[in-house]
Amino acid sequence: MKKHNYSAGPCILPQEVFEKSAQAILNFNDSGLSLLEISHRSKDFVTVMEEARALVLELLDLTGKGYQALFLGGGASLEFLMVPYNLMKENGKAAYLDTGTWASAAIKEAKIFGDTTVVASSKEQNYNHIPKGYTIPADADYFHCTSNNTIFGTQMKEFPSTNIPVVCDMSSDIFSRKLDFSKFDIIYAGAQKNMGPAGTTLVVIKEEVLGKTGRTIPSMLDYAKHIKADSMYNTPPVFPVYASLLTLQWLKNLGGIEAIEKINDAKAALLYTEIDRNPLFRGTAAVEDRSNMNATFLLNDESHAAKFDEMWKEAGISGLPGHRSVGGYRASMYNALPLESVQVLVDVMKELEKSI
Ligand code: PLP
Repeated sequence: MKKHNYSAGPCILPQEVFEKSAQAILNFNDSGLSLLEISHRSKDFVTVMEEARALVLELLDLTGKGYQALFLGGGASLEFLMVPYNLMKENGKAAYLDTGTWASAAIKEAKIFGDTTVVASSKEQNYNHIPKGYTIPADADYFHCTSNNTIFGTQMKEFPSTNIPVVCDMSSDIFSRKLDFSKFDIIYAGAQKNMGPAGTTLVVIKEEVLGKTGRTIPSMLDYAKHIKADSMYNTPPVFPVYASLLTLQWLKNLGGIEAIEKINDAKAALLYTEIDRNPLFRGTAAVEDRSNMNATFLLNDESHAAKFDEMWKEAGISGLPGHRSVGGYRASMYNALPLESVQVLVDVMKELEKSI
């Protein structure tokens, strides 16, 4: 039986992506060759890369607006370093919003490069909310934020307006909700949540922000070089890119981001309503900042943990324990998780209440 997979990433992908990508490993496009044994310069794979890059821009409504999409290696963590390399001027400075573990990891890398201002942080409250009312210095080279905090279950519902370039780590909520993506100059996201298997990172760049640092950038870290090479400066991660294309096609066929947002809203409403109603549980994130992707919650009485754990495992749920820095539970409800899976979890929570 297929599990109800609440894993935070790598995580559930649409079933058809698993099936079609397995087929491509065996016999890609009926060529008699595996996707894994053909040249990345072959027409078949170049077409995959071109389609994937174009579909990203189409789904984000960025086609023809001066943006380029890249599929790079190295994980979202490499972007923590590539962003300052490509945007921070010699003797310049950057502004960061500290909303969680990943935001603070990005800040750590930026500090290696230069003056890095943290405009606000919720660290003292164990990142249980998104800070508001901060000022972004107008003379910074860019502002960096994290749209969804995978570990702490908070999500930015609004983004500040500023005249400096805005960079956003959207690793855990890309393609999940409608935003005006043209407000961002660089968006990056590791594939392994809403897009595909681990091994590639999507970077969407407004080209005009590049080339202004005065730095010499090592080739593999230079966004401009990757753009010039059509995202094939070196051998790209062919399988993760292909599986990402399949997920993007699945999303387009479903009706795009607008359609998935409605489903994601319904899933989050179903679960948060139960967390708030059920006297056995409580959420950990400030209500107004709750993430639609990762819902974090605790049992009010830890002595019920063994029973609850047994019950959800029995119901075919997997991947529910929270990150060690928060404890409790984290239900990751990425795009491919069906509403029915959330209903199964809610039913288990109700059953636990009845049994006590
Ligand atoms: N940023 C966010 C918001 C994440 O959730 C993660 C991983 O979960 C990362 C960055 C790091 O991604 P990677 O493991 O691809 O470097």
